[in-house]
Amino acid sequence: MRPTLNWLPADDPLPGTTDLEPVADALSTGGVLVLSGAGISTESGIPDYRGEGGSLSRHTPMTYQDFTADTQARRRYWARSHLGWRTFGRARPNAGHRAVAAFARHGLLTRVITQNVDGLHQGAGSEGVVELHGSLARVVCLSCGALSLRSELARRLEEANAGFEPTAAGINPDGDADLTDEQVEGFRVLPCTVCDGVLKPDVVFFGEAVPPRRVEHCRTLVREAASLLVLGSSLTVMSGLRFVRHAAQAGKPVLIVNRDPTRGDRHAVTRVALPLGTALTTLADRLGIPVDDGSTA
Ligand SMILES: [Zn+2]
Repeated sequence: MRPTLNWLPADDPLPGTTDLEPVADALSTGGVLVLSGAGISTESGIPDYRGEGGSLSRHTPMTYQDFTADTQARRRYWARSHLGWRTFGRARPNAGHRAVAAFARHGLLTRVITQNVDGLHQGAGSEGVVELHGSLARVVCLSCGALSLRSELARRLEEANAGFEPTAAGINPDGDADLTDEQVEGFRVLPCTVCDGVLKPDVVFFGEAVPPRRVEHCRTLVREAASLLVLGSSLTVMSGLRFVRHAAQAGKPVLIVNRDPTRGDRHAVTRVALPLGTALTTLADRLGIPVDDGSTA
């Protein structure tokens, strides 16, 4: 059975440190593969599921099974996601994303794999980013497979749902806003413009497997890297954790920067418990690498 996107229980937390030296050493050696998660985007205003104020307690992410089986679930998803998209559309890369792009420009990184679907690494100038869980910026048709731009669908949805202006109770990392059933009633869901099929955001839902070719590509990246640097992920889903295990089994140092303990701590040589923006700009300073101030991003 292929592993699917599901939460794992926590285990073996590693005490956090504020010492950035091992991470600085790994970066100055080069060949670093970055694996990033929601924690790097919280400073851009996109909330994390977990940690302080995490939304998991009040939000159950949509599962692939619900989305594909249930018309009402899809209406709920698209209504909520349509509102959430406005927040995602406004989010801008932060100092952490810009520092990662600067490390890459200076040849310290082999690649960035991200679990985030927000496109903010690319917005900061990182190239060749592997989007492990897909991207909210794209939409896929479940019937004909056609890919299209989310911005185009957002425009069509605005037109089809003129006057849909409910106030959301909150916004979640998968771009899903909190709305009641009454608020989503009457929301018009739109089909594929090619074949009238069902549209789905091009992201990996909970209960859905990451495409095998994408997983294999990431395994190759782990094999080719000198070390693995985890940025802002609690590694509570197998899709990211397996690369941490893979790196550790291959004898490559795993370094983690995450404020809270992670599911991968037992495989790591260190876990730095600092906010990502602070940690990454401090590292850039120490390595003498200039980071864009974001005014041009
Ligand atoms: Zn289609």
